[in-house]
Parts: sequence; C-alpha cells; structure tokens
Amino acid sequence: MASKPYAASGKYIDRMSNYCKSCRFNPAKSTGQDACPITTLYWDFLMRHEALLAKNPRMGMQLRNLSRLSAADRKAMRAQAAQLGVS
Ligand code: SF4
Repeated sequence: MASKPYAASGKYIDRMSNYCKSCRFNPAKSTGQDACPITTLYWDFLMRHEALLAKNPRMGMQLRNLSRLSAADRKAMRAQAAQLGVS
C-alpha cells in the first residue's frame, strides 16, 4: 500500500528512462512552448491538493519545493495546466 501519492514530474521520468531524449518537450520546464505536460500537471496537482497533501509527512520535500515558487510562477503553471484541459 502506498503511503503517499505516486505522482512525479517529467524530470523523474527523464531520470528513470530514455523517453525524454527524443521528445520535443523539456522535462525540466513547466511553462512555455516546450514545457513538458507531465511536469506542468505534476505542479498543478500539488497546488490543487496542497492543503490535503500537507497532512502527509512524506510529502514534506515536495511541498517545500512548491513553497519556493513565486505567485507569478504558480499562476503561469495553472494557466499552462488549464491549456492542457486540467484545472
Ligand atoms: S512529455 Fe515530458 S516526460 Fe514525457 S517524454 Fe516528453 S519530456 Fe519526457
């Protein structure tokens, strides 16, 4: 049984596979023309469920990373996620 959500960004997929090598998207980017949709949706997922995830001690590192984002970055990621049909 999992004790935290099994959700990852494109950077994790890039580290664990060779899929990103031939992809037109950049797994490290969450906004912009070449943003990886997996990375965008990962951050959007964390933002949408931040309050719930904060109750899980195993999500501390991910939420600390989220807390470093500026309001402008968050807004841009939400807009990018909305373009993907999520949010
Ligand atoms: S969409 Fe993202 S995670 Fe998938 S192959 Fe492309 S860069 Fe990697």
